Amino acid sequence: MGILDKVTSAAKSATDKTKPSVDVGNLKTKILYEEERIVEIFTEMGKSFYKDPDGDHSKLRELCDDIDTRRRRILKMRLELNQVKGFKICPKCGMKLTDKFVYCGKCGTKLPDVSDENFSVLEMEGFYNEG
Ligand SMILES: [Zn+2]
Repeated sequence: MGILDKVTSAAKSATDKTKPSVDVGNLKTKILYEEERIVEIFTEMGKSFYKDPDGDHSKLRELCDDIDTRRRRILKMRLELNQVKGFKICPKCGMKLTDKFVYCGKCGTKLPDVSDENFSVLEMEGFYNEG
C-alpha cells in the first residue's frame, strides 16, 4: 500500500512541473476582446443617456468603473507581452527601455512592474493616444 502511494505521488509531481510561460497569442486575443468590450460599454453608456438624459445616471458610474477595470487589465496584458519580448514602455513618455530598468531614463517616471499586485495605482494617462 505504501508503494502504490509513492508511485502515484511521483506521477503527480511529474505532471506538476509545467513551466509558467506566457501565451502570447492568447494574450493578444484577450486584449482584443477587452478592447471590443470597452467600445460596447461606451455604446451602452451613450444609449442609456440618450434614452433618459435627465434621469438617474448612477448606473453610468458603474460602467465607467467597469471600463477602468478593463483598461487596467489591457495595460497589464500589454506589459506582459512586452516583458516576453524583454522590454518596458514608459507609461508617461512612451520611451522603450530594456527590462532591467526600474525608472525611465528619459523622464524619470517609475516603470510599471507586472508583478506589482497593486496594479490599480498605475498611471493610465495617454492610454488612448496610442491610436
Ligand atoms: Zn519616460
